[in-house]
Amino acid sequence: MPKKSSRSAPVETARVKMVASPVHVERSSAQTLPTVTLSPRGVARIKSGHPWVYRSDIASAEGVAAGAMVEVADHRGKSFGTALYSSSSQIAIRMIAEPDAPVDDLPTLIAERIRAAIAYRQPLVSDTDAYRLVFSEADFLPGLIIDKYNDVVSVQILTQAMDAEPVRGAIVATLVEDLSPAGIVERVDPRIRDLEQLTPRESGLLWGKKTSTIIAMNATDTSVPESHSVRFHYDALEGQKTGAFLDQRENYAAAARYAHGDALDVFCYQGGFALHLAPHCSSVTGVDSSRPALEMAEKNSALNGQILNGKEIEWIEANAFDLLRDYAGGSRDTGRHAGRKYGTIVLDPPAFAKTKRDLDKAHSGYKELNLRALKMLAPGGILVTCSCSFHVSAADFLETVAAAARDAHKSLRLLESRTQAKDHPILLNVPETGYLKCLIFSLSD
Ligand code: SAH
Repeated sequence: MPKKSSRSAPVETARVKMVASPVHVERSSAQTLPTVTLSPRGVARIKSGHPWVYRSDIASAEGVAAGAMVEVADHRGKSFGTALYSSSSQIAIRMIAEPDAPVDDLPTLIAERIRAAIAYRQPLVSDTDAYRLVFSEADFLPGLIIDKYNDVVSVQILTQAMDAEPVRGAIVATLVEDLSPAGIVERVDPRIRDLEQLTPRESGLLWGKKTSTIIAMNATDTSVPESHSVRFHYDALEGQKTGAFLDQRENYAAAARYAHGDALDVFCYQGGFALHLAPHCSSVTGVDSSRPALEMAEKNSALNGQILNGKEIEWIEANAFDLLRDYAGGSRDTGRHAGRKYGTIVLDPPAFAKTKRDLDKAHSGYKELNLRALKMLAPGGILVTCSCSFHVSAADFLETVAAAARDAHKSLRLLESRTQAKDHPILLNVPETGYLKCLIFSLSD
C-alpha cells in the first residue's frame, strides 16, 4: 500500500466476472431505472462474465445522471441486470445485480451488503482488532473500501454512485449501528475524486470524535495468558497513513514462525514485519526510505516494550537498492553490517508495476532485490519475499525469484506460498481482487 492506497487492488482496469447479488430486494412496481444500452461488444463482455463495461462498449447512456443506478440492456431491450453508472470513469458500468435480483433501493442494498461483509469475516478473522471490513468488488460493493482499526473506522469512496448523499448516509448509519465505533473517518484520494469528477473534499471525520487509536494483532502465543499482541499506532488523518498494512497481517505471523538469527526487514514502513520478528530473532534491522515511516516505527517499538523485552530494533533510512548493493557487495564501508549474513530477510517493496507497461522494469527490480538478499542470507536462512503488484502474476513472481536464485547459485526450498489476509477476499473471476504474493523460503545449507 508507498502510500497505503497503492496496495489496494486497482479499481480502474479490472476485467471481472459479473457477481450475483447475495441480497434480494423486491423492486416496487413504480420504479423504472434509466437504461444504459450496450454495444454488441459490451453485451459480449457481460455474457462472458465481466461486470465492468468500458465506455467504448456503451451504445447509449443518454440522459443518465452521474452515479445513477441503471438497468443494463442490449439494443433489443433485453436486460442484463442492474449496474452503477459513472459518467467520467473509463469503466462506465459496474454490475451490482443479476436480472433476476432487481434492486429497489440502493442505500438499502448497500447497508445489507455491508452487514453481509462484516458477517462473512466473523469466522475468518481472529486475534486482531484491525482488519478490512469491505473490499469493493470482492464484497459486491464496487467503489467502497472500509477498514476497521480498533474503535476507528476508515472509509474510502471511489465512485460517483458511492459518493451520493443517501449512500453515504447508509454507510455511516450501518457502521454506527453495527460497530459503535468512536470515530468514522473518510480518507480522500484527491486523484480519484478528480477522475470521477466529484467535488473536491478533504479527509475528515464523518461521525464521532476519534481519529487515532492503537491497534493490536497476532498475540505471540495465545496459549499463554500473559502473551502480548503486536501493537501499532494508527492515525487516520496523519499525512502519511499510519498503522500496519492490514493485508500482510497473516503473513507477519507466518514469517514470525520461521524467523531466527539476525533479521533484516527491507521496506519496513512502520515496522510491521520487524516488530513481529523481534521476539524470535537475536537482532532486527528495519530499512525504509521514508523518515516519517521510521519515526513511527520507533514509536511502535516503544509501544511493544513487553514483547521486545529489552531488545532494540535498529531503523535505517536508506534507499533499499543502494543499501542492499553495499551490504551484499561490500562496495563501501558498511560498518558492522559489512559482509554480515542474516538468518531472516524480509523484502516487501511497493508495487513496482502499476501498469502492464512497467512489467519488464518490475521484474528486473524484483530480481535484483532478491539476488542481493540471497547473497546476504546465511545457510538455513529464511527469505520472506513479497510483491503487491497485481500485474505481476504469482507464477511470474515465483519465476523471478527462481531466476535470482540461479544467478546467485543458491538453492531455495519453498516453505509457504501465501497471499493477502482473508479479510481482503479474492473473488474468483475478479482477478484484480488478488494482488499480494508472499513467498517464504528456506535457503539450503
Ligand atoms: N512491510 C511494510 C510495508 C511496506 S510498503 C509493512 O508491512 O508495514 C513499502 C515501503 O517501501 C514504504 O514504507 C516506502 O516508504 C518504502 N520504499 C519505497 N521505495 C523505497 C526505496 N527505494 N528504498 C527503501 N524504501 C522504499
